[in-house]
Amino acid sequence: MRITDLKSAVIGRNICLRIVTDKGVDGYSQIESFKEFLSVNNDMYKKEIIGCDPTDVEDVMRRIRRLGAFKPWGKYVSSIETALWDIAGKEAGVPVYKLLGGKVRSKVRVYCTQYTGLTLPHEEALLHYGLDPQIRAENILAIHEQTGFTIVKSPLGFHNLSFRALAEDVDDSYAYNSHPLDPPVHYPENGNGSLLSRRAMDDLIRYVRGIGEIVGNSIGLAYDCGPGMTVPDALRFAKGVEDSNVLWLEDLVTGNYSPYTMAQAYRDITWNTATNTHTGEQIYLRQNYRELIENRAVNVIGPDPADCGGIAELKRIAEYADIHGILIAPHGVFHGVFGMAALMQVCCTLGNNFIAFEYPQADPPWWYDIVTGLPDGFFEKGFVKVWDRPGIGIEFDIPKAEKYLRPEDRDFFR
Ligand SMILES: [Mg+2]
Repeated sequence: MRITDLKSAVIGRNICLRIVTDKGVDGYSQIESFKEFLSVNNDMYKKEIIGCDPTDVEDVMRRIRRLGAFKPWGKYVSSIETALWDIAGKEAGVPVYKLLGGKVRSKVRVYCTQYTGLTLPHEEALLHYGLDPQIRAENILAIHEQTGFTIVKSPLGFHNLSFRALAEDVDDSYAYNSHPLDPPVHYPENGNGSLLSRRAMDDLIRYVRGIGEIVGNSIGLAYDCGPGMTVPDALRFAKGVEDSNVLWLEDLVTGNYSPYTMAQAYRDITWNTATNTHTGEQIYLRQNYRELIENRAVNVIGPDPADCGGIAELKRIAEYADIHGILIAPHGVFHGVFGMAALMQVCCTLGNNFIAFEYPQADPPWWYDIVTGLPDGFFEKGFVKVWDRPGIGIEFDIPKAEKYLRPEDRDFFR
């Protein structure tokens, strides 16, 4: 079997890839939304992989890994890898998880990121529910009640619009050097190491403690914090919530869209607090996890299969973390249905250091109407049940999906 084409299209809010072969077996994958600002130009990758056998996944990957970098520039390489596994599974007649070592669990725990609009409109969840623990806690309880999610993650610090508004737009003595950018950049949730005022620190600690008191200890509470605090602020904050229900604090220093990791800074925090730290969604390739893992600089890593180099790459990272006593909770919030299926395939094979993956919702919801293969009841009470279909586990319903193609992408399925 040989690769004959690599195609891409924006469907809804996601970039989708299709690897075409001379045997009529296609591989698909879906890239996180909010990366639409990147051009959908895949010629650079296409010319490297045309003619390769797609089932020799590693042989294809060694040709294109140099064409990626930290988030979002690893997206093509990573998503090509996942689409190759889709083809390899279909060709072998087995689910991808069989090719990744086989499953060790029949249902995979997933966690809910609260700004995905599950129970709140997106903007509302971000803006108006910012620093009021009562409203946020009630929403977490409602999510748990309606869906059964056992872990809910909320935006905090510079990842929280209300906090950012205070720090950047309203009050110039809230965070001292947060450098608002005008016009805003694509990823503004970066505090760039802003020094917090005592008032800001107190607000954050009070907020987390307040949520914990109202929600109680039966739901895991995680917080996406940035990136953007200084090391002393991050440590003070982590210590300030040690007695509260906090599963992990994510991206305290660097993280989402940071083109580096600052492992030593994380180590200084992690080694001095009993609160779990978490980072890693922007990191490309296992080699770039080495410093973080070998220093045990965080307690939990969160690689993203569509940024770290793919699903087999995620498994390699997970195993290296495991032998260093580090847990893993992969990132994936805006990856859509194909992204959810890909995360299920790899996460059901991971060892005991696996906590949960971030549940990607179909966005817009019509995504569920344009795929086949997703079994009824695949999501139950905060878990995704492993299902058995060859490849990644779902397919496009092409006649239905074609209707959502943009004019410039109309050849995607042809
Ligand atoms: Mg994050």
